Amino acid sequence: MNERRTALVTGANKGIGFAIAAQLAARGFTVLVGARDATRRAAALSRLTGDVHGVELDVTDEPGVTQAAKEIRTRFGALDVLVNNAGITGDGTQVPGSGGLPEIRRVFDVNVFGVITVTEAMLPLLRPGARVVNVSSSVGSLTDMTAPAGGSLADMPAMLGYPVSKTALNAVTAQYAKHLRHQGILVNAICPGYVATDLNGNDGPRTPDQAATLAVHMATLGPDGPTAAFVDDNGPITW
Ligand code: NDP
Repeated sequence: MNERRTALVTGANKGIGFAIAAQLAARGFTVLVGARDATRRAAALSRLTGDVHGVELDVTDEPGVTQAAKEIRTRFGALDVLVNNAGITGDGTQVPGSGGLPEIRRVFDVNVFGVITVTEAMLPLLRPGARVVNVSSSVGSLTDMTAPAGGSLADMPAMLGYPVSKTALNAVTAQYAKHLRHQGILVNAICPGYVATDLNGNDGPRTPDQAATLAVHMATLGPDGPTAAFVDDNGPITW
């Protein structure tokens, strides 16, 4: 059976998830690189060093996620860290009045139901004292959205998909934190900041490595670390 600490990262074939996988591997974790596409998964694995393994994982495919959990149990025994990183932004039809219900559902399928699907499947594998990190976004902050002047993104159009999905993800984080706190499992949400990845046409000022540092910090919290927190590099973010 595996003696190292084992971490599963979803959406780990590129962007922030890839950087999280690389940093966890550098810290000596056995890292399970969750990725839905075999070619992209293999390409990512070829660029990683350490004890890294590919896991086929489309977070919207419930039977596939169940199968992945079975494989992880057989091959690795248990999980010490789960990073729910996979996410999509969706297109412009998420603006209210644009008839974007299918797109809004697609975004929720990945960003919210995908996280629930993966977490439910992996729950029996989480060791007491495990850490769960959900990669959220400050655009999901209800406090910010309802600020009198329109919040920090006042110049952006209202959207029913991506930001609302991250608000829901934050609530999901809080509920899992409540459920798991008696097992010493800490569950937190992070905002990685605005990071140059394919998600935003690579125009963010931060690097995936910078974003990954916070995720890895939350994935390796000591027993006195927070749970049900929503943080960025500067500390707690208002919900
Ligand atoms: P990328 O687009 O670079 O990476 C997204 C990852 O998610 C890819 O590996 C992608 O796989 C994967 N993914 C998408 N859909 C699925 C699915 N159905 N099943 C499994 N994997 C899937 O984006 P980022 O690295 O920037 O995003 C990572 C997380 O960070 C997201 O949750 C995002 O919302 C969050 N975030 C990012 C910010 C930024 O500025 N970049 C800001 C705030 C939050 P594939 O290659 O197969 O499509």
